[in-house]
Amino acid sequence: MAKKFFIGANWKMNTVPLGWDAADSPYISTGNPNIVVFPSSLDLCRCIEKKLSVGAQCGRPETAGAFTGDIAMQELKKRGCTHVLCGHSERRQHHHETDADIALQVQGALKNGLIPIFCIGENADQREMGETEEVLAEQLLRCASVKGMIIAYEPVWAIGTGKTPTPKEVSETHAFIRSLLKDKKTQILYGGSVTGNNAAGFFAEEEIDGALVGGASLKPEEFRKIVACAKKM
Ligand code: PEP
Repeated sequence: MAKKFFIGANWKMNTVPLGWDAADSPYISTGNPNIVVFPSSLDLCRCIEKKLSVGAQCGRPETAGAFTGDIAMQELKKRGCTHVLCGHSERRQHHHETDADIALQVQGALKNGLIPIFCIGENADQREMGETEEVLAEQLLRCASVKGMIIAYEPVWAIGTGKTPTPKEVSETHAFIRSLLKDKKTQILYGGSVTGNNAAGFFAEEEIDGALVGGASLKPEEFRKIVACAKKM
Protein backbone atom coordinates (compact mmCIF):
# COMPACT_ATOMS: atom_id res chain seq x y z
CA MET A 1 0.00 0.00 0.00
CA ALA A 2 1.31 3.48 -0.90
CA LYS A 3 2.47 5.50 2.07
CA LYS A 4 0.27 8.48 2.90
CA PHE A 5 2.41 11.63 2.97
CA PHE A 6 1.67 14.81 4.89
CA ILE A 7 2.89 18.20 3.70
CA GLY A 8 2.41 21.27 5.88
CA ALA A 9 2.80 24.78 4.48
CA ASN A 10 3.88 27.07 7.32
CA TRP A 11 3.29 30.61 6.04
CA LYS A 12 4.49 32.14 9.32
CA MET A 13 3.84 35.91 9.61
CA ASN A 14 3.29 36.34 5.86
CA THR A 15 0.15 36.93 3.88
CA VAL A 16 -1.35 34.20 1.70
CA PRO A 17 0.80 33.35 -1.35
CA LEU A 18 -0.24 34.25 -4.88
CA GLY A 19 -2.83 31.88 -6.34
CA TRP A 20 -3.62 30.31 -2.96
CA ASP A 21 -7.35 30.24 -3.85
CA ALA A 22 -7.04 29.56 -7.61
CA ALA A 23 -8.80 26.55 -9.12
CA ASP A 24 -5.39 24.90 -9.64
CA SER A 25 -3.97 26.03 -6.28
CA PRO A 26 -1.11 23.76 -5.17
CA TYR A 27 -2.38 24.22 -1.61
CA ILE A 28 -5.57 22.21 -2.17
CA SER A 29 -5.34 18.78 -0.60
CA THR A 30 -6.24 15.96 -2.96
CA GLY A 31 -5.78 13.12 -0.50
CA ASN A 32 -2.21 11.93 -0.90
CA PRO A 33 -0.26 13.93 0.03
CA ASN A 34 -2.47 15.39 2.69
CA ILE A 35 -1.74 19.13 2.42
CA VAL A 36 -2.45 21.44 5.33
CA VAL A 37 -1.72 25.17 5.27
CA PHE A 38 -0.78 27.13 8.39
CA PRO A 39 -1.67 30.78 7.67
CA SER A 40 -1.40 33.70 10.06
CA SER A 41 -4.34 33.96 12.47
CA LEU A 42 -5.88 36.73 10.34
CA ASP A 43 -6.06 34.46 7.29
CA LEU A 44 -7.34 31.27 8.94
CA CYS A 45 -11.02 31.89 8.21
CA ARG A 46 -10.68 32.88 4.56
CA CYS A 47 -8.55 29.77 3.89
CA ILE A 48 -11.19 27.60 5.58
CA GLU A 49 -13.93 29.30 3.52
CA LYS A 50 -12.02 28.40 0.34
CA LYS A 51 -11.96 24.75 1.44
CA LEU A 52 -8.24 24.44 2.15
CA SER A 53 -7.26 22.15 5.01
CA VAL A 54 -6.11 24.56 7.65
CA GLY A 55 -4.05 24.44 10.81
CA ALA A 56 -3.10 27.17 13.25
CA GLN A 57 0.49 28.16 13.97
CA CYS A 58 -0.24 28.15 17.72
CA GLY A 59 -3.12 27.90 20.14
CA ARG A 60 -3.84 27.86 23.86
CA PRO A 61 -5.34 24.85 25.61
CA GLU A 62 -7.43 27.04 27.95
CA THR A 63 -10.96 27.68 26.70
CA ALA A 64 -11.07 31.43 27.50
CA GLY A 65 -9.58 33.97 29.85
CA ALA A 66 -6.94 36.61 30.39
CA PHE A 67 -4.47 35.64 27.67
CA THR A 68 -4.04 38.80 25.63
CA GLY A 69 -3.21 38.13 22.01
CA ASP A 70 -3.81 34.38 22.13
CA ILE A 71 -6.43 32.13 20.54
CA ALA A 72 -8.11 29.18 22.25
CA MET A 73 -7.76 25.79 20.58
CA GLN A 74 -11.46 25.28 21.19
CA GLU A 75 -12.19 28.32 18.99
CA LEU A 76 -9.76 27.12 16.31
CA LYS A 77 -11.65 23.85 16.14
CA LYS A 78 -15.04 25.60 16.04
CA ARG A 79 -13.90 27.72 13.08
CA GLY A 80 -12.82 24.64 11.12
CA CYS A 81 -9.10 24.17 11.81
CA THR A 82 -7.95 20.56 11.82
CA HIS A 83 -4.35 20.87 13.03
CA VAL A 84 -2.21 23.09 15.24
CA LEU A 85 1.56 23.54 15.44
CA CYS A 86 2.91 22.99 18.96
CA GLY A 87 6.40 24.06 19.94
CA HIS A 88 7.70 25.43 16.66
CA SER A 89 11.27 26.58 17.32
CA GLU A 90 10.30 30.19 16.56
CA ARG A 91 7.68 29.99 19.34
CA ARG A 92 10.23 28.43 21.68
CA GLN A 93 12.66 31.23 20.83
CA HIS A 94 10.46 34.32 20.65
CA HIS A 95 7.71 33.33 23.10
CA HIS A 96 9.88 31.32 25.49
CA GLU A 97 7.62 28.29 25.26
CA THR A 98 9.01 25.46 27.39
CA ASP A 99 8.72 21.69 26.96
CA ALA A 100 6.14 21.72 29.78
CA ASP A 101 4.05 24.43 28.03
CA ILE A 102 4.27 22.52 24.76
CA ALA A 103 3.16 19.24 26.36
CA LEU A 104 0.04 21.04 27.62
CA GLN A 105 -0.57 22.32 24.09
CA VAL A 106 -0.25 18.82 22.61
CA GLN A 107 -2.72 17.41 25.14
CA GLY A 108 -5.01 20.44 24.76
CA ALA A 109 -5.07 20.06 20.99
CA LEU A 110 -6.15 16.43 21.20
CA LYS A 111 -8.76 17.24 23.83
CA ASN A 112 -10.22 19.85 21.48
CA GLY A 113 -10.27 17.59 18.43
CA LEU A 114 -7.22 19.10 16.72
CA ILE A 115 -4.21 17.11 15.52
CA PRO A 116 -1.06 18.53 17.13
CA ILE A 117 2.05 18.85 14.98
CA PHE A 118 4.62 18.59 17.73
CA CYS A 119 7.88 20.27 16.61
CA ILE A 120 11.23 19.20 18.02
CA GLY A 121 14.82 19.73 16.96
CA GLU A 122 18.32 20.50 18.09
CA ASN A 123 20.21 23.76 17.50
CA ALA A 124 23.60 24.07 15.81
CA ASP A 125 25.65 24.02 19.03
CA GLN A 126 23.83 20.98 20.35
CA ARG A 127 24.44 19.15 17.08
CA GLU A 128 28.11 20.10 17.08
CA MET A 129 28.48 18.82 20.65
CA GLY A 130 26.90 15.49 19.65
CA GLU A 131 23.88 16.14 21.85
CA THR A 132 21.13 15.73 19.26
CA GLU A 133 19.63 12.52 20.63
CA GLU A 134 19.77 13.77 24.22
CA VAL A 135 18.00 17.01 23.25
CA LEU A 136 15.30 15.22 21.26
CA ALA A 137 14.71 12.72 24.06
CA GLU A 138 14.27 15.58 26.55
CA GLN A 139 11.86 17.44 24.23
CA LEU A 140 9.86 14.24 23.68
CA LEU A 141 9.78 13.07 27.27
CA ARG A 142 6.37 14.39 28.32
CA CYS A 143 4.62 13.34 25.10
CA ALA A 144 6.24 10.01 24.25
CA SER A 145 3.12 8.01 25.08
CA VAL A 146 0.66 10.36 23.34
CA LYS A 147 -1.45 8.83 20.56
CA GLY A 148 -2.81 10.86 17.66
CA MET A 149 -0.11 13.50 17.22
CA ILE A 150 2.23 14.12 14.29
CA ILE A 151 5.88 14.90 14.97
CA ALA A 152 7.89 17.40 12.93
CA TYR A 153 11.63 16.92 13.32
CA GLU A 154 13.02 20.35 12.53
CA PRO A 155 16.69 20.92 13.30
CA VAL A 156 16.80 24.61 14.23
CA TRP A 157 20.00 25.16 12.22
CA ALA A 158 18.22 23.99 9.05
CA ILE A 159 15.20 26.29 9.32
CA GLY A 160 15.36 29.04 6.72
CA THR A 161 19.10 28.60 6.21
CA GLY A 162 19.30 26.51 3.04
CA LYS A 163 21.31 23.93 5.03
CA THR A 164 19.91 20.46 5.61
CA PRO A 165 21.00 17.16 7.08
CA THR A 166 21.20 14.41 4.46
CA PRO A 167 18.08 12.27 3.94
CA LYS A 168 19.99 9.36 5.49
CA GLU A 169 20.81 11.40 8.61
CA VAL A 170 17.16 12.47 8.92
CA SER A 171 16.07 8.89 8.48
CA GLU A 172 18.35 7.75 11.30
CA THR A 173 17.10 10.53 13.55
CA HIS A 174 13.48 9.65 12.78
CA ALA A 175 14.20 6.02 13.68
CA PHE A 176 15.62 7.23 16.99
CA ILE A 177 12.55 9.39 17.63
CA ARG A 178 10.25 6.49 16.73
CA SER A 179 12.10 4.22 19.14
CA LEU A 180 11.05 6.55 21.98
CA LEU A 181 7.39 6.71 20.98
CA LYS A 182 4.75 4.38 22.29
CA ASP A 183 2.75 4.59 19.05
CA LYS A 184 5.22 3.37 16.41
CA LYS A 185 2.82 4.41 13.62
CA THR A 186 3.10 8.12 14.49
CA GLN A 187 3.80 10.16 11.35
CA ILE A 188 7.19 11.88 11.55
CA LEU A 189 7.80 14.81 9.19
CA TYR A 190 11.06 16.47 8.33
CA GLY A 191 11.26 20.28 8.30
CA GLY A 192 14.14 22.61 7.46
CA SER A 193 14.91 24.14 4.05
CA VAL A 194 12.86 21.61 2.06
CA THR A 195 12.64 22.68 -1.60
CA GLY A 196 11.43 21.29 -4.91
CA ASN A 197 15.00 20.13 -5.54
CA ASN A 198 15.65 18.17 -2.36
CA ALA A 199 12.16 16.93 -1.42
CA ALA A 200 12.35 13.69 -3.44
CA GLY A 201 15.48 12.64 -1.55
CA PHE A 202 13.71 13.03 1.79
CA PHE A 203 10.46 11.40 0.66
CA ALA A 204 12.33 8.36 -0.65
CA GLU A 205 13.31 7.45 2.92
CA GLU A 206 11.01 4.93 4.56
CA GLU A 207 11.25 6.74 7.91
CA ILE A 208 10.16 10.14 6.53
CA ASP A 209 6.39 10.59 6.27
CA GLY A 210 6.30 14.07 4.79
CA ALA A 211 7.51 17.60 5.35
CA LEU A 212 6.79 20.82 7.15
CA VAL A 213 7.74 23.53 4.68
CA GLY A 214 8.35 27.19 5.50
CA GLY A 215 10.03 29.45 2.92
CA ALA A 216 9.36 27.25 -0.12
CA SER A 217 5.66 27.04 0.76
CA LEU A 218 5.33 30.75 0.04
CA LYS A 219 6.39 30.17 -3.58
CA PRO A 220 3.46 28.39 -5.26
CA GLU A 221 5.46 26.80 -8.09
CA GLU A 222 8.17 25.59 -5.72
CA PHE A 223 5.53 24.18 -3.42
CA ARG A 224 3.83 22.48 -6.37
CA LYS A 225 7.14 20.70 -7.10
CA ILE A 226 7.35 19.45 -3.52
CA VAL A 227 3.80 18.11 -3.71
CA ALA A 228 4.61 16.44 -7.05
CA CYS A 229 7.60 14.65 -5.45
CA ALA A 230 5.32 13.12 -2.81
CA LYS A 231 2.76 12.14 -5.46
CA LYS A 232 5.44 10.25 -7.42
CA MET A 233 6.46 8.07 -4.45
C1 PEP B 1 9.62 25.94 9.32
O1 PEP B 1 9.63 27.08 9.72
O2 PEP B 1 8.88 25.09 9.87
C2 PEP B 1 10.48 25.57 8.21
C3 PEP B 1 10.69 24.32 7.99
O3 PEP B 1 11.01 26.61 7.49
P1 PEP B 1 11.93 26.50 6.18
O4 PEP B 1 11.28 25.49 5.26
O5 PEP B 1 11.93 27.87 5.60
O6 PEP B 1 13.27 26.05 6.62
